[in-house]
Amino acid sequence: MSIKDNLTSIKNELPKGVTLVAVSKTKPNEDILEAYNTGHRVFGENKVQEMVAKWEALPKDIEWHMIGHVQRNKVKYMAEFVSLIHGVDSLKLLKEIDKQAKKHERVIPCLLQIHIAEEDTKFGLDDSELETLLQSEAFNGMENVKIVGLMGMATFTQNENQVRKEFAHLKSIFDQLQQKLPEISILSMGMSGDYKIAIPEGSTMVRIGSSIFGERNYQ
Ligand SMILES: *Cc1c(COP(=O)(O)O)cnc(C)c1O
Repeated sequence: MSIKDNLTSIKNELPKGVTLVAVSKTKPNEDILEAYNTGHRVFGENKVQEMVAKWEALPKDIEWHMIGHVQRNKVKYMAEFVSLIHGVDSLKLLKEIDKQAKKHERVIPCLLQIHIAEEDTKFGLDDSELETLLQSEAFNGMENVKIVGLMGMATFTQNENQVRKEFAHLKSIFDQLQQKLPEISILSMGMSGDYKIAIPEGSTMVRIGSSIFGERNYQ
């Protein structure tokens, strides 16, 4: 199957209201253009430099999502154009995004990443860190970032029940947070291996790479 065929069949199976982020990390510009030429505009990358190089080379109406872990010293390179940052997991990072966004007179939409997986290798805030962040004075004073939702990654396992439980947990945190921040609307959960579980659990945004572009040679 071609990239075009993969993309079309995945898009046809997604319910209305679920946004597809085509994860193009490690893939060449020709592959991205093949997807672009079907009309798709939302792409995800996990390394800032790679995303910047692709932004420079490719059509300017692409919406670039940063889905990976972000080092604070890299924020300045993407502040001009990034349309959503999925992996915000500290106040320090959020402050830096706010500062760099201000330089470009932008408000950058961000998702807070929540730790839901069993593995402790995955990034993200736990419940108490989320609470502390939301209550901090600094968070409430930021004008150039906007929290628009949450993101999470489930454990990499064949155990579907566990994955489903982790997504349900994230959805419950999302629902609670929506009481305090009624403007949040995005719940980014689900990748190639688990988006079919994430959608019935309430995902509104899936990040799919290998099922569209094929296996990657390296992460
Ligand atoms: C690579 C990556 C994806 C996509 O993974 P696939 O299994 O190729 O669909 C989704 N989310 C994040 C955070 C990633 O780093």
